[in-house]
Amino acid sequence: MTTNNLQPTTYNFIVSGGGCSGLSLIMRILSEPSLSNKKILLIEQSEKNLNDRTWCFWEEGKGFFESVVCKQWSSSWFHANGYSSLNELGSYRYKMIRGIDFYRHCYQVISSSPNVTVVHDKVISIQQESDGVRVFTERGEHKGGYAFNSILFDDPLQQKNAHHLLQHFKGWVIETEEDAFDVDACTLMDFRVDQHHGTTFVYVMPLTQRKALVEYTLFTEQLLKDDQYVDGLKNYIKDYLQGVNYRIEEEEFGVIPMTSAKFKRKEGNTMFIGTAGGQTKASSGFTFMFIQKQSAMIVEQLKKTGNPFYHPSKIDRRYHWFDRVLLNVLIKRRVPGDQVFKKMFQKNPIERIFRFLDNETNMGEEIRLISTLPTIPFLKAGFEEI
Ligand SMILES: Cc1cc2nc3c(=O)[nH]c(=O)nc-3n(C[C@H](O)[C@H](O)[C@H](O)COP(=O)(O)OP(=O)(O)OC[C@H]3O[C@@H](n4cnc5c(N)ncnc54)[C@H](O)[C@@H]3O)c2cc1C
Repeated sequence: MTTNNLQPTTYNFIVSGGGCSGLSLIMRILSEPSLSNKKILLIEQSEKNLNDRTWCFWEEGKGFFESVVCKQWSSSWFHANGYSSLNELGSYRYKMIRGIDFYRHCYQVISSSPNVTVVHDKVISIQQESDGVRVFTERGEHKGGYAFNSILFDDPLQQKNAHHLLQHFKGWVIETEEDAFDVDACTLMDFRVDQHHGTTFVYVMPLTQRKALVEYTLFTEQLLKDDQYVDGLKNYIKDYLQGVNYRIEEEEFGVIPMTSAKFKRKEGNTMFIGTAGGQTKASSGFTFMFIQKQSAMIVEQLKKTGNPFYHPSKIDRRYHWFDRVLLNVLIKRRVPGDQVFKKMFQKNPIERIFRFLDNETNMGEEIRLISTLPTIPFLKAGFEEI
C-alpha cells in the first residue's frame, strides 16, 4: 500500500487579485469550452464597487469586452505648439471602458459560474510547492495547481539599474452648460500646455456634446501637488474649451509606472499577470490591451499544453529596447517629450503609430517610424541602451 502525504489540489487555478488582469483572464478561461469547468479561486481584497478608473485604448474591430465599451471614436485630434491634426483612425477605434461597468460585468458572469469561488481577503504570500502553489491570506490558505498573480509584492521602482518615469494624471468628467464637444473625435494628446514640469499633455474624451473626460497627464519622475493638477485642468478648460461654464461630475487620479525594470514572468507554478507581470508598456503606460493579449496567450497555452507558460517572442525583446530608448530620451531630456510626439504624429500615419505602440510593427515600419524622430538624440540613447 502506498501512502500519499500530498494534500489534494483544491483548485486548478488561483487568481490572486481581481482587477483588470485577474478578471480578464477568468473571463477568457470561462469562454474557452475546454477550460470552462476548471475549478477557479479568485482572491480579491476589495468589493470592486467603485468606478476607480477608466480605460481608454485603441482596438481593431470588436473586442472581447465590446459589450462594456461605453463610447468609441473613429477619429482623434493631436495638438502641439505649431501643429494640429485630425486623424481618421482607419480600421481602429479609440474606445473607453468605465472600471465599474467592467467589474460589474465580470463579477456577474463569475457569480453565475458554479466552478468559480470568490473570496474577499488579503493575499499575504504565494508559496511554490512541488505539485502546485499555496496561497496565504490574512484569513487562511488555499491550494491550487497554478496561481496567476496581479499583486505587486515587490516595487519595480526600487530596481536601481533601470529607467523609471511615472505617468500620473488627474481627470475630471465635466458637464458643460453649452455644447462644447465634438462627439465624433477625441483628443489623444494635446501638448499645448505648459511643459515646465516635463512631458505634459491633456486628453479629452467627449461622451456627449456637453460631457467629456478631460485628463491632465504627465510623464515625469515626481508627482505634483494636488492643486497643480487642478490648475492644469482649469487652465486647459479656460484656454481651449472657450471658457465654458462647467461642473465636475467625477474625478480620477492615477499613477502608472513607466519603467524598464524587469518584472518576473513566472516563479514555480505562479505566473505574473497585468502590471505585476510587466504588461504596462514602459514608454506609454498603456496596459489594457497588453493585458488582453496576455490573457489570450495564457488561455491558448493552457488549451494546447495544460500549463500557462508561453515563451516571450524575440520581437518582445526588440520592443523593450525601443521602450528603454524612449525612456532614456525623456529622462535625460535629450529632446522635450512634446517635440518627440509632435514629430511622430506629424510624419507617420496614425495606424503605424498604433501598431508601433502595440509592439506589432514589422522592421520596415519601425525603421520608417524611428527615422522620423530627432536623429542624434535617439542615436545616442539607442547606443546607450544596447
Ligand atoms: C486611474 C488609472 C487609469 C488607467 N487608465 C488606463 C487607460 O486608460 N489605458 C490603459 O491601457 N491603462 C490604464 N491604466 C493602467 C492599467 O490598465 C490599470 O492599472 C489596470 O487596472 C492594471 O490591471 P492589473 O490587473 O495589473 O491591476 P489592478 O486592476 O489594479 O488589479 C489588481 C487587483 O489586486 C487587488 N489587490 C492588491 N493587493 C491585494 C492583496 N494583497 N490581496 C488581495 N487583492 C489585492 C486590487 O484590489 C486590485 O483589484 C490605468 C491605471 C489607473 C490607476
